Amino acid sequence: MTVWPYADTGIMSEEILEEVVTMNYRATGREKPVVFSWQGDEPLRCGPDFFKTAVKLQRKHIKDKRIVNTIVTKCEGLNEEWANFFYENNFLVGLLADGRKSFAEPALAEFDVAAPFKRLKPAAEFLKKRGVHINVIACIDQRNVNSPITVYNCMKEMSDYLQFHSVGKGHHAVSAEAYGEFLSRILTEWYKNDENKVYVQFIEALLSNYKGCHSGFCIFDTACGQNPVVDYEGDVYLCTRCREKGEAYIGNIMNLDLNDLLGITAEKGKCKISDLPTGCMQCKYFKVCYGGCPLNRVENMFTGIKENALCRSYKRLFTAFDDILRVTVADYISYLR
Ligand code: SF4
Ligand code: SF4
Repeated sequence: MTVWPYADTGIMSEEILEEVVTMNYRATGREKPVVFSWQGDEPLRCGPDFFKTAVKLQRKHIKDKRIVNTIVTKCEGLNEEWANFFYENNFLVGLLADGRKSFAEPALAEFDVAAPFKRLKPAAEFLKKRGVHINVIACIDQRNVNSPITVYNCMKEMSDYLQFHSVGKGHHAVSAEAYGEFLSRILTEWYKNDENKVYVQFIEALLSNYKGCHSGFCIFDTACGQNPVVDYEGDVYLCTRCREKGEAYIGNIMNLDLNDLLGITAEKGKCKISDLPTGCMQCKYFKVCYGGCPLNRVENMFTGIKENALCRSYKRLFTAFDDILRVTVADYISYLR
């Protein structure tokens, strides 16, 4: 479960936090770890005491399953106390490099692609020295999308676990073509130099799909809702993107019972496949893409059919996968046929 414990308007209460812990435990299948992904505006703003309470409640209620905590942060207020806490409680810390929010907005031509990473690097070094596991998440927008290798190398200097998020709205929104080209260049670079050394989330997810396994990466999975989000007021949505858009509301965790949570989530999660246009159903990449994220579907003004706005970027990427993988692992490709 993803937890957004902080917003400008408040912090999650202990009562809701305890319900989140018990509900997440009960909703997690028998063999699986109970995963808490702490995200949101800046979860560190909740303060260390909030997270100490969270861990205390996890230990109180979860005795027979492994607990996994991950947190995504821009490192606001990171200090010795946080580092010790993350280390002692085995948190995986995702450092978010988002050039839009952490800097004054320079003109496009003056934007230093490496700057968001340079800013995070001391935090990465600091955490690694204290034994904390980290990954790096880069937001890809109009200003860095044409510099894939610079972005990739800056990230690799910090960690071997990398994730990319495209910025799809606002005046720095990235185009489908440019993002597809960006991901293809990352794939080529990874394959040339870093296969089996660097973990890149979208590559690993697509490799799973090519092998016919479920990746668990929602955008390229068969259904939505594997990882619902609960916000500081206890409101549960299908996922973080749905929460941002105010869509796919499941209910308030204080009023939901387990069957409601699982039932409504499963029902709403079918939207991934249920409304797909014929073009997706007949697409040669259907079994690796599954139509992408339904929130990216927009109505074609000529045909009236809803299509994925990132379709061209996905196809560019899948073509690159075909080219690279055909040489070494032909059976991945044969799965598609
Ligand atoms: S690549 Fe495009 S057409 Fe094919 S399944 Fe994905 S979104 Fe649909
Ligand atoms: S709506 Fe998009 S982001 Fe949300 S779970 Fe579905 S694929 Fe993932």
